[in-house]
Amino acid sequence: MLSVHTSPLHQPGTGDAGGMNVYIVELSKRLAELGTEVEIFTRSTASALPPLVELAPGVLVRHVTAGPYEGLIKEDLPAQLCAFTHGVLRTEAGHRPGHYDVVHSHYWLSGQVGWLAADRWGVPLVHTMHTMAKVKNASLAAGDTPEPAARVIGESQVVAAADRLIANTDEEAQQLAEHYGAHAGQLSVVHPGVNLEVFRPATATPTGPVGDALGNPAAEAARVRAIRARLGLPQDAVVLLFAGRIQPLKAPDVLVRAVAQLLDESPELRDRIVVPIVGGPSGSGLAKPEALQKLAAQLGVCDVIRFQPPVGQAELADWYRAATALVMPSYSESFGLVALEAQACGTPVVAAAVGGLPVAVRDGETGFLVRGHDPRAWARTLRRFVDHPELGARMGAAAARHARAFGWDAAARRTAELYADSIARTRAAQARGMATATAR
Ligand code: UDP
Repeated sequence: MLSVHTSPLHQPGTGDAGGMNVYIVELSKRLAELGTEVEIFTRSTASALPPLVELAPGVLVRHVTAGPYEGLIKEDLPAQLCAFTHGVLRTEAGHRPGHYDVVHSHYWLSGQVGWLAADRWGVPLVHTMHTMAKVKNASLAAGDTPEPAARVIGESQVVAAADRLIANTDEEAQQLAEHYGAHAGQLSVVHPGVNLEVFRPATATPTGPVGDALGNPAAEAARVRAIRARLGLPQDAVVLLFAGRIQPLKAPDVLVRAVAQLLDESPELRDRIVVPIVGGPSGSGLAKPEALQKLAAQLGVCDVIRFQPPVGQAELADWYRAATALVMPSYSESFGLVALEAQACGTPVVAAAVGGLPVAVRDGETGFLVRGHDPRAWARTLRRFVDHPELGARMGAAAARHARAFGWDAAARRTAELYADSIARTRAAQARGMATATAR
């Protein structure tokens, strides 16, 4: 696997680390359990990092030196792709020929490296986009910086070179075809998963059936009270959680504006609403890391918003459990893993009807889908959790059941099948090529 611009060892929820990191970690671990050994190449970002780290049994992370360890942002990395590719090819050259059976690249920067490596080694290139410049640019937040033309060109080259493109949803597959000319024979849809051992209702055991936990709402509520106490959240509050990277595309400002709207309409709710924002600045949000705090101050809602730095997955699970609802007003999402994670913890999700979110959230059953980004519409939907206190628990139980369908095992099994199929096709094509050459 190639993950040039962000390491599977980084803490997700800030900077360049997010769902893709979680995707690579979870997928690799499950692939290894199924018997597919995985090596993940990533750019080294500190001199102290060892060249090789075992992430899990059967999963190695290889740190490749390509450019200075610190001070490079993602936008600088196209200039380091040659150095990175050199590191990857040198590593392979140290093994017997045929060491790698398939290259799976993540994000277009890795796709550029994978294109060359796969070609050299005579193995298939499987690629996952994670996000696409043309799709992002089509739905930017007001004033946000568009993705550059160089990325669009690079993505088109990767699509043309890939033997197989794995899309998160049918919609993403369609976008790959429409915007990048991918053909049907290249495209496969694999829904990402959620780690159901980490993300589960408070009273569920890591491996037990979720129904047991949901069958005892009183015990679940008691456990959630204890979690709220530990996190410093009031017991009787409506907790509207945002979790993830803070950048205009994720639109946490829409949540802040919606809450301000709600409090304008009903000032008596001031003591009953808490909005934790868990995560750190990222992407174009890094240019103005204080923007959200300033907005909250301008709108006079600093007292209800709580900013929390990013946390590990087990701790994040407690934030989900403590929340009445997770709120995702994103302008664009290739999938939106946090929507699955929150639901797996028994928490409904209020999400924008974009990207994978309509797949992750069942509108009216496990949460609500909101069209557009008008804070008044968001305020109206969030208000339902205030006016109907039983809604959170009812939708939460449905959400936990719904999320069970999205385990990583299924995603890994399907991905392993796609690897096997791509390898078989490549070998067959090579055999045909050799036969033709011999006949000549
Ligand atoms: N995340 C985390 N700690 C945090 C906030 C987020 O580990 O404090 C993780 C979260 O569990 C999720 C990922 O970051 O798996 C975000 O993925 P998502 O697909 O929602 O968004 P992306 O970052 O890919 O845009």
